Amino acid sequence: EAKQAGGGTFRRYHAGMTARGAERNELAAALRTAIVEEQLVLHYQPVVTLPEGRITGVEALVRWQHPERGLLGPGAFVAAAEQTGVIVGMGRWVLRTAVRQMAAWIAEYGVAAPATVSVNASPRQLQESSFADDVAAALRDHDVPAQRLTVEVTESTAVGGGATQDNLRALRAMGVRLSLDDFGTGASTLSLLADLQVDQIKLDRSFVPVPGPDAIAAAVVQLAAAFGIEAVAEGVEEARQAARLTEMGYRRAQGYHFARPMPATEVSARLSAPPVTAAVS
Ligand code: C2E
Ligand code: MG
Ligand code: MG
Ligand code: MG
Repeated sequence: EAKQAGGGTFRRYHAGMTARGAERNELAAALRTAIVEEQLVLHYQPVVTLPEGRITGVEALVRWQHPERGLLGPGAFVAAAEQTGVIVGMGRWVLRTAVRQMAAWIAEYGVAAPATVSVNASPRQLQESSFADDVAAALRDHDVPAQRLTVEVTESTAVGGGATQDNLRALRAMGVRLSLDDFGTGASTLSLLADLQVDQIKLDRSFVPVPGPDAIAAAVVQLAAAFGIEAVAEGVEEARQAARLTEMGYRRAQGYHFARPMPATEVSARLSAPPVTAAVS
């Protein structure tokens, strides 16, 4: 459908350009402006230990404070950003912002800071030849150890072309942690898991049980153990799910039951003050 443009006129489309394509391009142009005008924000969702519920990491999740439409979640713009390539600039912003925030938490909270900040990376970003260099530069500029950054990719992103394999190799060599997101929903194979040498897998929330069959959740935590990989259960919304996952052997979880994605200041409020060091006599 043709969208009504300002001044009551209708936008004309080039022959062959679909209305959807035009809408997507408009969204992409607006997103480019949004990056420059600092309308993007990161919310951070805690990843906690089971059974204690202590914050061990945070996942950065992008939002767009749109001037007219309010706070938009990634569902409203990440696909368009991916299809138009705007994701590359957006991803760079996300990376630098998350790493800068991590540096601030380390400086302020010391050992009580989250152990790692996770950033989502899309197929297009991994295909970009500069991706690993951008990561290295962000870590260097903010003096954050590589081990305190986790890059989350899906299984289909991990098998991508372009510079994907070089980037994954370079990230591993640097010591950046790799996580397989939405695990179980993609084309997982055991050989992929063996080849990728990821540090973490995130069980997709569609497999988080209760009530109902939970054989997959149980199998995944054992698979992770066999590979020496950390398993995180995503989308944990209820106490009884957390209890069941703990029974299965999960030691990490994320979900509304523990905490929703929140602004950095709210994460800070939940971090305990650094322990008082013993006075030297
Ligand atoms: P994801 O990486 O799998 O992130 C988890 C999503 O699940 C988040 O949605 C989070 O808010 C939501 N979630 C967390 N706990 C629960 C729960 O208990 N129940 C339910 N129903 N949902 C829960 P969000 O923030 O809307 O992000 C959606 C997806 O957008 C992300 O999925 C990720 O694939 C993508 N995304 C987010 N931020 C970025 C980014 O900076 N760059 C890229 N490339 N993609 C991003
Ligand atoms: Mg993720
Ligand atoms: Mg996920
Ligand atoms: Mg997801």
